Amino acid sequence: MTVIRPEGLRDPSPLVNPTLTPPRFIADTMLGSLVLWLRLMGFDTLIHAAKDDNALLRSAASSGRILLTAHRALAARPLARNVILLPPTGPRRQLEQLARFCPLHRRLKPFSRCPRCNNLLRPVDKDRVREQLPPYIWEQYERFSRCTSCGRIYWPGSHRSHALGKMMGGGGMGKNCELRECLIAN
Ligand SMILES: [Zn+2]
Repeated sequence: MTVIRPEGLRDPSPLVNPTLTPPRFIADTMLGSLVLWLRLMGFDTLIHAAKDDNALLRSAASSGRILLTAHRALAARPLARNVILLPPTGPRRQLEQLARFCPLHRRLKPFSRCPRCNNLLRPVDKDRVREQLPPYIWEQYERFSRCTSCGRIYWPGSHRSHALGKMMGGGGMGKNCELRECLIAN
């Protein structure tokens, strides 16, 4: 059983090998803001709404996902495998903690995944989204992406790029991340 508790760990070993596939996560409902940020960074992250803790643990184990939770009791359950217990203090602190076990900065694919539904984004021709966007947005930007599942459209935007860059730069996530563009949720 791998249950990692943040407190008391002085020199934690990385939970995830950065040369392997990017880590995939499943989070409990307390971590909604963290889920949003992980998706913006490009990490496949589900949120589990079931009230049955054992169902969540079984779902995490069967899917090979790392379970992120702020519930101590959940992390302590006998079924718990590959669980990272995070502080209930907001996404920045949680990202700092998560980065101690998963080298997230090495596997970033910012703005490649829909923050709303977790599915991948694909570039779409500007002319194909004209009818779906406010004119001032369509005229201001040249590059657009569309979610392959929910169909939401995203485009570059500086203010969210700044927010994410600030969070990652100040959160132990690496200062040399190539954050040149950003997406604003439609
Ligand atoms: Zn979507």
